[in-house]
Amino acid sequence: LASLKNRALRQRIMDASLNRASKGGEFDNRAVVASMVKLRAERAAMLGYANHAAYVLADETAGSVEAVNRLLAQLAPPAVANARAEAADIQKIIDAEGGKFQVSAADWAFYTEKVRKQKFDLDEEQLRPYFEMDNVLRNGVFYAANKLYGITFKERKDLPVYLPDIRVFEVFNEDGSHLALFLVDYYARSNKRGGAWANAYVAQSSLLGTSPVIANHLNIPKPADGEPTLMTYEEVTTAFHEFGHALHGMFSNVKYPRFAGTSVPRDFVEYPSQVNEMWAAWPEVLKNYAKHYKTGEPLPQALLDKVKA
Ligand SMILES: [Zn+2]
Repeated sequence: LASLKNRALRQRIMDASLNRASKGGEFDNRAVVASMVKLRAERAAMLGYANHAAYVLADETAGSVEAVNRLLAQLAPPAVANARAEAADIQKIIDAEGGKFQVSAADWAFYTEKVRKQKFDLDEEQLRPYFEMDNVLRNGVFYAANKLYGITFKERKDLPVYLPDIRVFEVFNEDGSHLALFLVDYYARSNKRGGAWANAYVAQSSLLGTSPVIANHLNIPKPADGEPTLMTYEEVTTAFHEFGHALHGMFSNVKYPRFAGTSVPRDFVEYPSQVNEMWAAWPEVLKNYAKHYKTGEPLPQALLDKVKA
């Protein structure tokens, strides 16, 4: 939808997508959904909960339906105000192009791209020379963790790895004692799942006496031999995000591995990663790693402001 120029086609695709599995015939799922809802309500009642939402939330950090509704009620007004402001920006472009129509949901992605180009004029290629991978890792991701938690990192080239590209770092506590092993698997390859994620290959457990072995997997295209790996800003924030999950696993301090690291309620698990992601753009951290890979010159203020916008 973001790239379709034909408005009628955008609308058709949107309608088709919204009506998936609810148009009658053999792929109509509505009866299945209705029976799931009924069974969930029955289960909740059998276990003594007012409804399915209360049953699910009992094990989450939110705790209750009231707490979730309270948060949603807080979020809704600013979210709607923001959507209205975006709609106004989009409508301005439609009018300027002589569109003579009101923006609809199907138009949103297509015109959002245009607004973005007009407002920020941000060319990712201009940024990449400031985000060389090893520099981002050592002087960004590791630097922030060292400042915050005092942990230090030492590359271990003597340990076996499953592919030559994988890097292993031993992580030490502030007092110099061993904390964890951290595997960096940032490059894309044809047989790798898409996206980015963190994985604990060994979970911390005082019962078993294990210390964590945690990996971060990203999908950064590998440059030609001898060329530096220059990351996009999105890849940089992803690296910080996934390292937040890695920290969660490394700082684990439990007896049973079942409860180690990221084995926490679903509405909490993204908290450490979101917080760590925040440091990517933190002025003190950004200044330390966002340097031109050839000249060492810091990311210019004008580009910096656009990144933040
Ligand atoms: Zn995450």
